Amino acid sequence: MEQDIDKLLKLQEIDLEIDRLEKLIKKIPEEIENLKQKKEELLFKFEKINNDIKHAEARKKEKELDIQTYQDRILKIEDALNRVKTNEEYKSLLREKAQLEESIMEIEDEILNIMEEIEHLKEEKKKLEKDIEQEKQRIENEIKKKEKLLEETKNKLKQLKEEREKIKKEISPQSLSKYELIKKKRGSKVIAIINDDTCSGCYMVIPPKVYSNLVKGEQLLTCPHCGRFLYYRSV
Ligand SMILES: [Zn+2]
Repeated sequence: MEQDIDKLLKLQEIDLEIDRLEKLIKKIPEEIENLKQKKEELLFKFEKINNDIKHAEARKKEKELDIQTYQDRILKIEDALNRVKTNEEYKSLLREKAQLEESIMEIEDEILNIMEEIEHLKEEKKKLEKDIEQEKQRIENEIKKKEKLLEETKNKLKQLKEEREKIKKEISPQSLSKYELIKKKRGSKVIAIINDDTCSGCYMVIPPKVYSNLVKGEQLLTCPHCGRFLYYRSV
């Protein structure tokens, strides 16, 4: 059994690496998803500015039509003023005309504000257009890199699993089944490598008798507290 320790150490090394790769394989797709979302948001931001411009232009058009309507009404009033019969009617038409003229001035102010808004939005769009292209490119490159890393990691994992199968055959069935049992209970840190009388797996002190046997290196021993294999390596 004792000659198994080197193989078991190798097996543990492989298992720890398998753990690391499996975590990575789980993490990378999430990172890719986040990047894709970032790209979406970027495009959405651009679309939003485009929409804001369109809406502002539609609002401007509406206001211009309002002015047109009021001006038509004023023309009709001016025409009617020539034909009025009573003083009362005359005054009423003039009042209406003055109100319409006032409204037109207000709307013209509003149109000026909208035009300013459009100009500002277009400037923002122009700036964004430049940034967006660079940022999109950067994100796409990053996604490609991650996808490549994922592929490589999967291949590496496959290789390691094959290597694991190979090394398993070189370990005695007894040691192997014990290893697998500890692994199931404690995770991939099956062998506690120590250089004093403290178990590096559970951090408890190893009984002196076990420890002295361990230092002699006569047997494959386990920690009485956590059940992990113990391996003494002097520093
Ligand atoms: Zn222990």
